[in-house]
Amino acid sequence: MPHATAGGPGRIHGDGSVTAHAPAKINVHLAVGPLRADGFHELITVYLAVSLLDSVTAWPDDGLSLTVTGEGAGGDVPTDSRNLVWQAAELLARHAGVRADAALHIDKSIPAAAGLAGGSADAAAALVALDALWGTRCTRGDLAGLAARLGSDVPFSLVGGVALGTGRGEQLSPSLSRRRTDWVLGVAGTGLSTPTVYRELDRLRAAGRFAADAGAGQPDDVLTALRDGPDATLAGFLANDLQAPALELRPDLRAGLAAMSGAGALGALVSGSGPTVAGLVEDADAAAGTADALVAAGAFRLVHAVHGPVPGARLAG
Ligand code: ATP
Repeated sequence: MPHATAGGPGRIHGDGSVTAHAPAKINVHLAVGPLRADGFHELITVYLAVSLLDSVTAWPDDGLSLTVTGEGAGGDVPTDSRNLVWQAAELLARHAGVRADAALHIDKSIPAAAGLAGGSADAAAALVALDALWGTRCTRGDLAGLAARLGSDVPFSLVGGVALGTGRGEQLSPSLSRRRTDWVLGVAGTGLSTPTVYRELDRLRAAGRFAADAGAGQPDDVLTALRDGPDATLAGFLANDLQAPALELRPDLRAGLAAMSGAGALGALVSGSGPTVAGLVEDADAAAGTADALVAAGAFRLVHAVHGPVPGARLAG
């Protein structure tokens, strides 16, 4: 019986290559529960995929190789088996019983270690591109299972749109919400390590400085406002339990949040484990104006005007 495949051989280019794109995410709501026995925290989060995309291109080759251009190339982004794209290739090859033969290239626009799930986006794009290149004919369900083994955010990078994430964030309930929202992303000069931010949250809680019941709470209001608006209401519900520890580790982010509000954002929060600050604005014109003001003020290393929701990892043209 025919089944829905993730890619299909139709997208292989004349030079034998396949390219897939995947989006950055913002956590519009992130409630962090207690530390589990497996070392992860129980999460309730509302993911939104936004229009800042990385691409992964794969060509036939003997063995695996990886090159990177763009954001973080030559710096934070490894080009060996530490890269999630490399791990995605090995995992898919094992799952499908094929040899892990491909030359891989990542073109990054999503800053690394920024709380935007750049590495997860690349892993999701690699699964989709290599499924097409190798003709492994995986279903979206197969790829989702592999994605969850690669990292907590990788399943969402695969599906995109808007979704409620539970467990480590890998258990997804996609939302039908399709209303466009516009955002400005302010990216700081240096990244933050996700495990370090979670450890800081645990430390603040142990010291009684962050009560477990004082956090982001349930996501129902944010899901409703994301779907129905208005944006001013949504702005009031933005919440992230990792913001307090991120600010503790990086006090300069307070100035970033203030700059975002000062430049016209309806509301602002630290995205995921930070240090990116995401500001919600009224529309695309407001996003351009806010972004220009932040660039002029030199408030961030990088500023991007984006919108969501956008689809998850998919083959290019
Ligand atoms: P999270 O998904 O935890 O929010 P993040 O968005 O803050 O993560 P990433 O951009 O995914 O951060 O990078 C985190 C670290 O993962 C990097 O510092 C780098 O060492 C490693 N890494 C592995 N693969 C990649 C990749 N393809 N792109 C960027 N970083 C990668």
